[in-house]
This record gives sequence, C-alpha cells and structure tokens, in this order.
Amino acid sequence: EIILAIETSCDETAVAIVQNGTELLANVVATQMEIHQRYGGVVPEIASRHHIQQMTLVLEQALEKAELTMSDIDAIAVTEGPGLVGALLVGVNAAKALAFAHNKPLIGVHHIAGHIYANRLENEFQFPLLSLVVSGGHTELIVMKDHGEYEVIGETRDDAAGEAYDKVAKALNLPYPGGPELDRLAQQGEPVYDFPRAWLEKDSFDFSFSGLKTAVINQLNQFKQKNETYRIEDIAASFQASVIEVLVEKTYRAAVENGVEQVIVAGGVSANKGLREALEERFKDAGITLMIPPLHLCTDNAAMIGAAASISYRKGNFSDFTLNANPGLILE
Ligand code: ATP
Ligand code: MG
Ligand code: FE
Repeated sequence: EIILAIETSCDETAVAIVQNGTELLANVVATQMEIHQRYGGVVPEIASRHHIQQMTLVLEQALEKAELTMSDIDAIAVTEGPGLVGALLVGVNAAKALAFAHNKPLIGVHHIAGHIYANRLENEFQFPLLSLVVSGGHTELIVMKDHGEYEVIGETRDDAAGEAYDKVAKALNLPYPGGPELDRLAQQGEPVYDFPRAWLEKDSFDFSFSGLKTAVINQLNQFKQKNETYRIEDIAASFQASVIEVLVEKTYRAAVENGVEQVIVAGGVSANKGLREALEERFKDAGITLMIPPLHLCTDNAAMIGAAASISYRKGNFSDFTLNANPGLILE
C-alpha cells in the first residue's frame, strides 16, 4: 500500500509518502526552526500560521518527488497528537480535506508511535523489543511484543531529556534548539563537574532530569558570584555525561529484565552523538540488536508517521471524520 502522511505537531511542516511501511518514496520537511530561534523556543501561534502557509506547498513537493498523483495514494495518515493543539489542527484538517475530496481512508497516528516506527524504514523489527524514546517532550521506555502494541514501563517524572538539553542550553545562552549545540560542545569538553544522576527507586525505569538541570544552573550561578571563569565545553560534557549514564543504564537493565531481542532508539535526542556511542558500547556484547535511526529520521518528519500508519492500515484500523487534534493523546 502507498500512504501519504502529514506531520505538524510542533515546528516542522512535513509530508511523506511511504510504501508498505518500509519504503520511503518522498520525505519533505519544512522546518520553522529559524523563525522560532529569535524567541528562544516554539511560539504556538506562529507555528500554526506557518503550517497553514507551508502545507499545500509541502504536499505538492512530496507528490512531485515521488512522481505520483493523489489517485496512486491508498490512505491519508496524520499525527493526531500529542503536540501543540493549533499546530496539530492544521495537519488534521488538511488530512481530512484530502481524504474527503479524494475518497481515501484516514488514519490518525500517535506522534511517539511515529518516532518508534522511524526505525522500521531502516530495518525490520524483532519482537519483543524495547524502545527508548528521547525527544523534546518525552523520555520513555516502551516494550513492544508485536506491531502497534505499546507498554510504557518507564517515563520521566518531570522534564523530558530534550527539554533538559534545551533549558540548560538556554542558561548557557546558546541558541534554540540547544540539544545539537550542547552535544557539539560536549565532544570538546571533559566531564569534570560531578552533576547528580537521578536513579530514583532501585527498580524504577522512570527518569527525572529537573534536578540535574537545577544543579547545572546553580553551578553557573556560583561561577558568576565568585567571578570564576569556566569552560562551557566542560559544563556541556558534564551535563551530557549525567544524562547519558542514566539513559544507557536504565535502557540496558530494562532490555535484560524484559528479555528483548532488539533495542531501538527514537526521538530527537537519539541524534545525540554521545548517546549513540554510549549505547553502542553498552550493547556491543549483550546479544541484543541495537538499532538507531539515521539523523534525518530522528527529529520530526512525516515518514515515521507513514511507517506507523502502515500497521493500522493492515489491521483495518481507520479513523472517521470525527478525527480531531488531541494534544494529550495516550499511546497505550
Ligand atoms: P515530542 O516528539 O516529544 O513531541 P518534539 O517533537 O519537539 O517532542 P523532537 O523533534 O523529536 O521533539 O526532538 C527535538 C528535541 O531533540 C529538542 O529538544 C532538541 O534539543 C533535541 N535534540 C536534537 N538533536 C540533539 C542532539 N544532537 N543532542 C541532544 N538533543 C538533541
Ligand atoms: Mg521539532
Ligand atoms: Fe517529535
């Protein structure tokens, strides 16, 4: 089947065309990053307006790239949540209009299911699998025993990993989004500051990053008060070492305890060089396959939405025209 997928949950207007859930025929992403940069974060109203301006263009580009017309498309998929409600609405309404006008089935997709399924564009899943989802709004460990079945065994109790990166970057006066910049600086620094690791209860697979964020900010305030100089690279490396150690150890323990065949990583923070290297090192001799998506599939795109929608298509799980943006949509 050929699915046309739309993603507008945050600040990228994206349309992709995916065949059989695994083959990418087109993947167009119009990012608004530079527009939001001057505000230090995504401004919801501005995001919605740009989605409206970009949607038709991006859609046309995707069809052109795939050398297809709407009559070749078997279903329209769209991110229904979670995300910014005004941003989601643009995609949902575009998808409903297309489905109605061309008489195609409609498939609502959970954004995080999309991030997970980005991996399937590279390699087939082996169940049971464990997915580490690390993005701007989520930090979760999810066990999957089959396609489309999600069991969340751990999640963040406060900030998401990407959110912590962005907030710490802001405290260091780095441009938005801070993740890639902090990652780059961390490669050039040494983890000389001993920031806390939030292990939580002994058996917990939950995460917490707000204490770490506060510890970094306190350290920066101390430097300021005492008029001490420091290397921003060392702060970045120390912060990153704390994030990565907790992510990698909890993922490893969850993988072993749940006897999974495969570990996959999903979401924007999976672009992090330090995290990718640490995971590869940890799982090297574990007898568990580790899969990390290529960089262009880590951050928001519509290819991942098309890949996830393929599972619903095959199960006959379609949405009707009451489909609506749902900023608090639950995955399980
Ligand atoms: P969600 O998917 O939870 O709704 P989102 O869509 O905003 O949130 P993504 O687009 O998946 O999140 O990822 C964006 C996040 O990834 C940002 O917080 C960004 O700073 C972070 N990020 C991107 N690249 C890197 C990197 N190399 N290192 C660390 N963080 C990164
Ligand atoms: Mg984004
Ligand atoms: Fe995302």
